[in-house]
Amino acid sequence: MDIRYDLHSHSTASDGTLTPAALLERARAADVDVLALTDHDTLAGIADADIAAQEAGLFLIPGVEISVSWRHMTIHVLGLNVNPAHQPLLDGLASLQEYRIWRAEEIARKLEKKGITGALAGAQQHCKGKILSRTHFAHFLVEAGRASSVRNVFKHYLVHGKPGYVGGQWASMEDALGWITGAGGLPVIAHPARYGLTRTKLNLLIDEFREAGGVGLEVVSGSHSRDETLHMAAVARTSKLFASCGSDYHGPEKPWMELGRLRELPDGCTPIWHADSWPVAA
Ligand code: AMP
Ligand code: MN
Ligand code: MN
Ligand code: MN
Repeated sequence: MDIRYDLHSHSTASDGTLTPAALLERARAADVDVLALTDHDTLAGIADADIAAQEAGLFLIPGVEISVSWRHMTIHVLGLNVNPAHQPLLDGLASLQEYRIWRAEEIARKLEKKGITGALAGAQQHCKGKILSRTHFAHFLVEAGRASSVRNVFKHYLVHGKPGYVGGQWASMEDALGWITGAGGLPVIAHPARYGLTRTKLNLLIDEFREAGGVGLEVVSGSHSRDETLHMAAVARTSKLFASCGSDYHGPEKPWMELGRLRELPDGCTPIWHADSWPVAA
C-alpha cells in the first residue's frame, strides 16, 4: 500500500483557519497517512496536533515554516521532524514572533495614514494564536470592504510598494538552519517556484542553503503548476537535494488547495522520507 504524505500545512497556531485537532481530522478524512504541521514561525500547535494524530491514527511530523531574509527577499524554509522542545529553536522563533508584533503595529500605522482605522485590533480578532500574519490583516480588510478577496488585498495593500507593506528583517539563513538542524530536523526550501528567481539566483540560493546544512526542496507544492513541479524536480536531482511534497493547506476557504491531494513526486527524485533521520511510524 502506498503511503500518502502531506508535509506542509497550517493551523490556527499561525494563519490557518482550522485548529490543530480539526486539521488532523480533515487529514484523516482525506486519507493522509503522514502529515507535517508546519506553522509559520511557531511550534505552538504541535502538542495538540500530536494528541489528535494519535486519536486519528495518523503519523504526525512536527514541523515549522521559518521566515528567512535572503538578499532582500523573504524565503520560507521548512524544518521537518524538529524536536519541538529544542530551546535554541524556541528562542529563535520567539525573536521572530516579537518582530511580527512590531511589524503588525507598523502595518496598522501605515494603513491608518490611508484612512483605515482599527486594523491592528481587526487583525487580532482573526488571529487565534500568537502569530500575527499579513493573512489576518487581509481577512480584516476584506471584512472592512476594502477589497473583494484576500488575493486582492495582498495585491493592493500588503505587498512591496503598497500602502500596508512593511519590509524587515527575518531570520538569517545560517540562524534558521542552525535552529532546525540543532533540533534534529531536516531543512527544506518551501515552494521554490514562488519566489520568481532566475536560474542563477536559484542556484545561488541552493548553494548557500546547502552550505548552511539544507537538504531538501519542496518539489511538489499546492502552489506549483505541473511545469514548475517538473522544473523543480530537475533542480532537486542536479543539486542532490531530497524532494518533498506538501499542499501548504491553510483551511477550507481555499478549496483549490486540499490536504493530501498532491501529484506524485516525478521520477528520479529521492523522497525526503528516504533520509537517514526520517522517523518511521511504529
Ligand atoms: P506573513 O508571513 O505574515 O508575511 O504572511 C505571509 C502569508 O500570507 C503566506 O504564508 C500566505 O499564507 C499569505 N499570502 C502571501 N501572499 C499571498 C497572496 N498573494 N494571496 C493570498 N495569500 C497570500
Ligand atoms: Mn501562510
Ligand atoms: Mn510559505
Ligand atoms: Mn506555508
